[in-house]
Amino acid sequence: MKAWVIRKISDMKKERSPLEPLDMPVPVPEEDEVLVRVSVCGVCHTEIDEIEGRTPPPVFPIIPGHQIVGRVEEGGPKAQRFKPGDRVGIAWIHSACGKCKFCLDGRENLCADFKATGRDTHGGYAEYTVVPENYAYPIPKIFSDAEAAPLLCAGAIGYRSLRLTGMKDGDNVGLTGFGASGHLVMKMLRFKYPKSKVFVFSRTEQERDFATELGALWTGDTAEEPPERLRGIIDTTPAWRPVVEALKNLERGGRLVINAIRKEDADKTELLDLDYSRDLWMEREIRSVANITRRDVSEFLDLASEIPIKPEIREFPMEDANRVLLEIKERKIRGAKVLKVVGR
Ligand SMILES: [Zn+2]
Ligand SMILES: [Zn+2]
Repeated sequence: MKAWVIRKISDMKKERSPLEPLDMPVPVPEEDEVLVRVSVCGVCHTEIDEIEGRTPPPVFPIIPGHQIVGRVEEGGPKAQRFKPGDRVGIAWIHSACGKCKFCLDGRENLCADFKATGRDTHGGYAEYTVVPENYAYPIPKIFSDAEAAPLLCAGAIGYRSLRLTGMKDGDNVGLTGFGASGHLVMKMLRFKYPKSKVFVFSRTEQERDFATELGALWTGDTAEEPPERLRGIIDTTPAWRPVVEALKNLERGGRLVINAIRKEDADKTELLDLDYSRDLWMEREIRSVANITRRDVSEFLDLASEIPIKPEIREFPMEDANRVLLEIKERKIRGAKVLKVVGR
């Protein structure tokens, strides 16, 4: 099969084409795994974190991609949940041990044996992939393949981030950065928390205009101060400056949720501007979002079909993967980017 792989850690400022095409054997589903013929795969900033070594794959070459929609081709000897032709999605959680205390109390995202699709196992930038059947999700009918792809990561992790803010309807909420996840969180906010005011911080005018279109009450640069204090802020940027700036805008007891797998080191010294009494005192909190659970993905897919959330998507042929990654790296983002995998 045709696949696109990461061969080594590289700096995308110098290496403009970090993904290489490679001919690989079609994987064989073992035990309870299913073989999925990939239709589309969403593109995520995490791919860049893998390429640049902030969350490095343990072995190379690796096929990235963890927002996969495709059709079940066949099952391993113990697989019985799906039949050939069933449409399924695969998300960042490829598997977890199922036995540790984290797995047993619903925090499988924190399992020490957590395996990530497209980092620890081959992902969806290929014609075929395999996954344990209980880590695949039926896709609600209202979504096309391409619409469903960004729901599996940007949407599901946005849903988890929103839960982690601990907000209630009517609480002021902020979004810092307004890319693939931000615009989906906005749609959830309008539906689940209709009385809440949404404030969006972004460095690009394009993202701010997009946020206004989708119902933000106020938008501004990350350095600007909104007219009201916020109960929760979700930060989806790769930088540190927005963290320092967001803390200033929290109300007492407010919480900043950082939804980023890694922060880039370029502006780490900005943290020296943190002022304990202004930014953290009065029980302000910072919480990160790690990975995703199957519950997040399933609940979010249901919610997304109920609202419904049809993500703003842009589709590209698989051959454009390197260019699309660069666009995300340079933050030329509007909506979610989805690759159409070859052979469809
Ligand atoms: Zn992702
Ligand atoms: Zn576990």
